[in-house]
This record gives sequence, C-alpha cells and structure tokens, in this order.
Amino acid sequence: MNRWERRGTKRLGSCKNISSVAGRGGARSVLVAGGAGFLGSELCKRYLQKGYDVTCLDDLSSGRLVNLEGHLNHPKFTFLRQDVSKPLNLEGSFEYIFNLACPASPPKYQADPLQTMKTCLFGAFNLLDLARATGARILQASTSEVYGDPHVSPQKESYAGNVNTYGPRSCYDEGKRAAETIFHDYHECHGVDLRVARIFNSYGPGMDPQDGRVVSNFITQALQGERITVFGDGSQTRSFCYLDDTVDGLIALMHSPPSEFEPVNIGNPKETPVGKLAELVLEKISSTSRVSYLDLPQDDPKRRRPDITRARTRLGWEPRVNLSDGLDRTIGYFRNELAASGKIVPGAM
Ligand code: UDP
Repeated sequence: MNRWERRGTKRLGSCKNISSVAGRGGARSVLVAGGAGFLGSELCKRYLQKGYDVTCLDDLSSGRLVNLEGHLNHPKFTFLRQDVSKPLNLEGSFEYIFNLACPASPPKYQADPLQTMKTCLFGAFNLLDLARATGARILQASTSEVYGDPHVSPQKESYAGNVNTYGPRSCYDEGKRAAETIFHDYHECHGVDLRVARIFNSYGPGMDPQDGRVVSNFITQALQGERITVFGDGSQTRSFCYLDDTVDGLIALMHSPPSEFEPVNIGNPKETPVGKLAELVLEKISSTSRVSYLDLPQDDPKRRRPDITRARTRLGWEPRVNLSDGLDRTIGYFRNELAASGKIVPGAM
C-alpha cells in the first residue's frame, strides 16, 4: 500500500475504496466514521489538536474532501475512503470510535433510501463488531429524528416518538431508531462500552452549501438575492445548535463515565420558527430577497425542541453560542464560499 493510501495527501482525492488497511490502533487513537462530514471533520480536527492519532473513514457520498483539507498532511491523520455498510476489514484497534456515517439532510438521505437504511443498520453492526473485538468505546450519532413529528414538546429522551414507518423520511428516522436498538442490544448482550447522542439541528461554518438544509438554503438564497424558500407557513420550529456546541457535547459524552444505556439529547433548547429564521437571515444580510411559501414536505416535524436536562446533569454541558452570533459566523463562512465559487445553487428535494 502506498503512503498516500493510508495518509491524507494531495493525491487523496483520487483514493479508491480500500478493502484492507492497517488501523494505527490502540490508546489515543480515534476512528471517526463519517469524518469528512460537517460534524465529523470538526471532530477529526479536535482530536488531532488533542494529540490523538485520527483515522477518518468516509465514502464521500455526502462528506466532502474540502472539509479535511486542513488535516491531510498531518502526520497523525489517516483517510480511508470506504462505505461503512460494507465489511470494514480494519486491522488494529482504536480507543474511541465515533459513528457519524450517514447523510443527514433530507434531500441527501432521501436520494437513495435503501442505501441510507443499509448505512444505518450495517454501519452500526460493522462498527459495533469492531468495538467489541477491540475493546473500543463507541459513540453513535443518533438524531432528533427518532422523535419523528413529536406529540410532546420539549422532547425528553424517554419520549418514544411519533414516526411513520414508510414515509419519505422513514429511511433515516427508522434507520437511526433501529441503529439505537442495535446499540442497545450490543450493550446488553455483549457489554460493549457505548454512548448514544441524539443530535438536534446543527449549523455553522463548514456546512455543505448545497445540502438543502434550511440554514444553508436561507443564507445562500439571501446572499444571492434569490427567493427564500419557506416550506409550509413557516410556523414549524427547529432548535438550532451551533457547530462548536454540538461537537463539545459529543466529546463530553464520549468521555463521560459509563452508565446504563441512556441516549442523551445534544441540542439547543431555544426553539425558533422557520419563518422567524428567514426574517433573521434577511435582516442580518440586509437582503432584498422575497419569501416564497412552498408546500410543506410530507411528515415534516411541526415542533422540535430538546429537553437537555440529562446532558446538563450527566455531562455538565449546555450550548453557549446563541443563534444571532452563530448566524453571523455562518453567514461569514457562506460569503467566503460564494466569493470563491461565484454562484451557489442551494440543494433541493
Ligand atoms: N425548510 C424550509 N426551506 C428550505 C429547507 C428547509 O422551509 O429551503 C424547512 C423544512 O421543511 C423543515 C425545516 O426547514 O421544516 C428544517 O429543515 P432541514 O432540512 O434543515 O432539517 P430537518 O427537517 O431534518 O430538521
């Protein structure tokens, strides 16, 4: 195997799937599956800063090499282009494994629903088997989508959710729910040391401008003077958590003491209607964009707000960046992206 196949280098962009590689292994070694994504790449960066050996595994179906540019020549960084739903054949071991491998934006995960389901299920089995075989601690990036279109708000971890088994969002929602079940059963049956984070809507610099999420769409539309596409009447709510806060929460959870199987909500409890988000973005950018109201997609949750009591008490964690400051930083990032590319076509369903 060439050096460039194991380490990030300029030739990494042409790296092919690798069926068998030697993991660096052992203590102070982290595997981030989905490490080329928005959150995963930030995790890679944080662990490199802490002095860990970091292996990033990603098939680049929604992750982007550009997110790894800062790490590619780092001597402790390895990139493996691989689909987590296929057998991993990784040699060596890791102290910590993060599973963030799955497209997370509705247009991306709905584009190939069966593959989304395979990624959630087979990815969970493959990484849990690796954790079990090597004694690693593993964290599953679950999601607020396990609550579906909730009948209660805010959502506590004890709420079982209201999820459609065969709607357009089901491949992701049910895939992530089943993955939680698999994690639970590996904990019960095999004693795997694991953590489950239910991540609520996260945003910030590094988002894919074309992933079709509400924050990236509204900002790129407003910056380009295009119509802001509000789905429905804009009264549906989301609770937006800034990148740094989400990643702080994931790291705090990974390094928290063992407990019974207990998923933990990682999100910002401040709830914002989508229509209000559009107003905020327009105001901050001083944009002349008009708002278009389009059909609300099927099964789009009407309210989403985490109860973070468990994260506060177990991890001593809570978000620190408010929406206004987070949006300012995110708008700055998208301005730079736009200046570099000239034009951004927002993602669409
Ligand atoms: N949304 C919108 N306009 C867009 C994209 C999304 O109004 O251009 C709405 C979407 O219908 C949902 C909310 O914004 O109610 C959050 O959507 P996103 O895709 O960001 O995340 P998710 O639905 O998975 O929370």
